[in-house]
Amino acid sequence: MIEVRNLSKVYQSGEIAVEALKKISFTIEDGEMVAIVGPSGSGKSTLMNLLGCLDTPTSGSYFLDSTDVSKANDDELAEVRNNKIGFVFQKFNLLARDSILHNVETPLIYAGIKKKERKERATSLLNKVGLADRLDHNPNEVSGGQRQRVAIARALVNNPSLILADEPTGNLDSKTEAEIIDLFHELNSQGHTIVIVTHSEKVAQQTNRIIHILDGELVKDEVVLG
Ligand code: ADP
Ligand code: ADP
Repeated sequence: MIEVRNLSKVYQSGEIAVEALKKISFTIEDGEMVAIVGPSGSGKSTLMNLLGCLDTPTSGSYFLDSTDVSKANDDELAEVRNNKIGFVFQKFNLLARDSILHNVETPLIYAGIKKKERKERATSLLNKVGLADRLDHNPNEVSGGQRQRVAIARALVNNPSLILADEPTGNLDSKTEAEIIDLFHELNSQGHTIVIVTHSEKVAQQTNRIIHILDGELVKDEVVLG
């Protein structure tokens, strides 16, 4: 599903160039659940932004389902994101004034889906993440773990094959973290490929594979024996 070859990213600010990723290469097959770990500043967010088609590399190639998206323009990238990728962030990025149901429906509005189907799809996903009785509540009326479930339901609403999660349990206590990881396992077993950036060794050990990044380089690619 994902093949990156010699992927590099240089941030140029005036005279100063920061080489955030240095010729990274790896492949992620359909159905894998992968953790990306590394210290602060090692290039994890840069890599996730590239994998999520939020940005393009300075050089190298990125094949997503056999299509090279490394040279795509902004419109093409937006289309790939909408069709293939669901994003989950540490900060849940929910709309505080809107109902939980409306939060999950929102991506479908942009996709031009009619109201009745939007409501059906959003309700069904909220049911799946255990929030069927909270549809009309606002995000600030539920717990942190429940907010992350809303964010995950929203990430799933376009039925993405790839889920990219950046520190999805960073704001959660360890019990809630375990529940969210269980939910990712369930989604993974249903066929979604999942890539998680995490600082938690415990979370990383619950994936199938750990990619270690240091100073913009892939230093270790580790199979996790479950
Ligand atoms: P991580 O997510 O592992 O903390 P990042 O990908 O955010 O690492 O950053 C990798 C390197 O690139 C760091 O040295 C960081 O300071 C630099 N960097 C990140 N974003 C930018 C930017 N927009 N402009 C300039 N430098 C950046
Ligand atoms: P950080 O890793 O520094 O905490 P985030 O995880 O919040 O940052 O965001 C990572 C990147 O994704 C940023 O470049 C941000 O602009 C982008 N981003 C954040 N939220 C969304 C969103 N809802 N949709 C698309 N891109 C987003």
